[in-house]
Amino acid sequence: MADIERHSFDVLVVGAGGAGLRAAIAAHDAGAKVGIVCKSLLGKAHTVMAEGGIAAAMANVWKEDNWKVHFRDTMRGGKMLNHWRMAQLHAQEAPDRVRELEEWGALFDRTPDGLISQRDFGGHRYARLAHVGDRTGLELIRTLQQRAVALGIEVFMEATITRLLKDGDRIAGAFGYWRESGRFVAFEAPSVVLATGGIGKSYKVTSNSWEYTGDGHALALEAGASLVNMEFVQFHPTGMVWPPSVKGILVTESVRGDGGVLRNSEGRRFMFDYIPEFFKAETADSEEEADRWYEDKTNNRRPPELLPRDEVARAINAEVKAGRGSPHGGVFLDIASRRTPEYIRRRLPSMYHQFKELADVDITAEPMEVGPTCHYVMGGVAVDPDTGESAVQGLYAAGEVAGGMHGANRLGGNSLSDLLVFGRRTGLNAAYAAARLKQRPAISEDDVRAASEHALAPFGIEGGENPYTVQHDLQEVMHNLVGIIRTAGEMEQALTDLASLRERITRLSVEGHRQYNPGWHLALDLRNMLRVSECIARAALERTESRGGHTRDDFPATDDSWGKINLHCRLDGEAVGVTHEPLPQMPDDLRELFN
Ligand code: FAD
Repeated sequence: MADIERHSFDVLVVGAGGAGLRAAIAAHDAGAKVGIVCKSLLGKAHTVMAEGGIAAAMANVWKEDNWKVHFRDTMRGGKMLNHWRMAQLHAQEAPDRVRELEEWGALFDRTPDGLISQRDFGGHRYARLAHVGDRTGLELIRTLQQRAVALGIEVFMEATITRLLKDGDRIAGAFGYWRESGRFVAFEAPSVVLATGGIGKSYKVTSNSWEYTGDGHALALEAGASLVNMEFVQFHPTGMVWPPSVKGILVTESVRGDGGVLRNSEGRRFMFDYIPEFFKAETADSEEEADRWYEDKTNNRRPPELLPRDEVARAINAEVKAGRGSPHGGVFLDIASRRTPEYIRRRLPSMYHQFKELADVDITAEPMEVGPTCHYVMGGVAVDPDTGESAVQGLYAAGEVAGGMHGANRLGGNSLSDLLVFGRRTGLNAAYAAARLKQRPAISEDDVRAASEHALAPFGIEGGENPYTVQHDLQEVMHNLVGIIRTAGEMEQALTDLASLRERITRLSVEGHRQYNPGWHLALDLRNMLRVSECIARAALERTESRGGHTRDDFPATDDSWGKINLHCRLDGEAVGVTHEPLPQMPDDLRELFN
């Protein structure tokens, strides 16, 4: 395979979203030779779509806020399944990561006295999200990207990694192809950081972009790492439901944080009917108290519209099912009757334009129609909390592809902070580990040949399955059978359907040649989507309780004994196995915060 393009780095970062860029900057600062490879253009990663903000207990708006309150909120939001150490590091380090972004040129919205402004979001006790209007992700990416480019970090854009390469049990590099030319490229690197984001494209209705095909999850699994918490998929309560072409596009939680309320077709503010026992003590039980909270948070409790996302998504689902939905199968999100048009346009400029342009709805004058959309995967590569290293030596993961930080449910704003905190930690540790090596691992030519044959397989089959049809069928299975409300019978059916799809993808065929061929790209992505979907379905079938982003109609209660267990998925040959593993023990001083 002498004709394949080759590169050599100390640290190869796969993904150029917030996590990947922050990891690359950290690895470079630690003295490593760093390369970034990403399947879209630099600056196009999913992070750019993030709207509401970065959660960090900076105490700029509420001096009562501190890392312990943030830690507690995160653990409670995750229904206590989070890895406590990740949640602790995250809460402790997020404020420094935001201040550092500002030093690097990010322009945040300000409080009247000139500090970084912080806004309210579901599940956060205090206004905590540092933001730039509702375009925070854009500013985050712009800042990190400018810094990475200024540091001279080499970027390989529009190149997709299809396989990790190993030397014995440890990582040796990665193999991929250029999307435009279809030519192959091999990277030799003793440390590889996966920062590939999420899995949403396995679902029919999603806020996620085309890039979210679970590549990093599947690559890690195939390399021998385990995936933790895969049963927990977050359905954001408010996606657009109309017109059909934009179904699933996100309506930021900031609409509710800034005063928007949810109503059913009878005009009723129904969230008061869905306050769970767990959150009763800190949630307002009347509209009057909920409305007073926006002005006086010390003497009033939070509105139920700002309960964690899993609670709100289930409530909307129940209202629609009960026949009290909006004309297009959602509910109404109303900020028009509660805030002035000037306020709405200033605080939510992207939402204003999104609805005006995509749905011809003026959100300053009329309510939006919204419903749940697949948004985020809590599950991901199991990593060491301090270093980000997986069970495979030299393989690291950070950002949405990593698991453990968010437990059963992620709080809004906690992803962008997660990317910064663990992106940095992972990049540093990946660089240190590479520097400590006495001998660099080597890529085997046989592995490179096998990876290229595997990638080219769809060209060798004539008249086989069409990748687009298979993708459509996969999305139907996951949407209908492993969606927001689950039952054993449906998930068993899903596993049967997924097995048949696995068989079908061995017969995928693509037409044309390797130069920019989206059908071929999809054929390769589909293998990852199927692996990840199977992990979700198997873990979800195994967990016989309801918790966070996993709701079982046949096991509606939360079961304390399941609160002590994480499920891990691993590959055994081609089969996905699920094991029960005890939660890491939280030290007593942190445990006391919950008494
Ligand atoms: P990404 O930013 O998605 O980057 C993934 C990178 O991996 C991309 O560069 C991609 O090209 C690359 N990649 C993937 N596969 C491959 C491959 N095989 N080979 C090479 N490269 C590959 N979170 C918050 O905290 N606050 C918010 O306000 C917020 N708003 C959101 C709004 C929307 C509409 C959405 C969809 C999400 C929002 N989130 C928010 C969630 C948050 O944006 C994501 O969880 C986060 O950006 C993920 O970042 P990442 O760095 O892990 O991955």
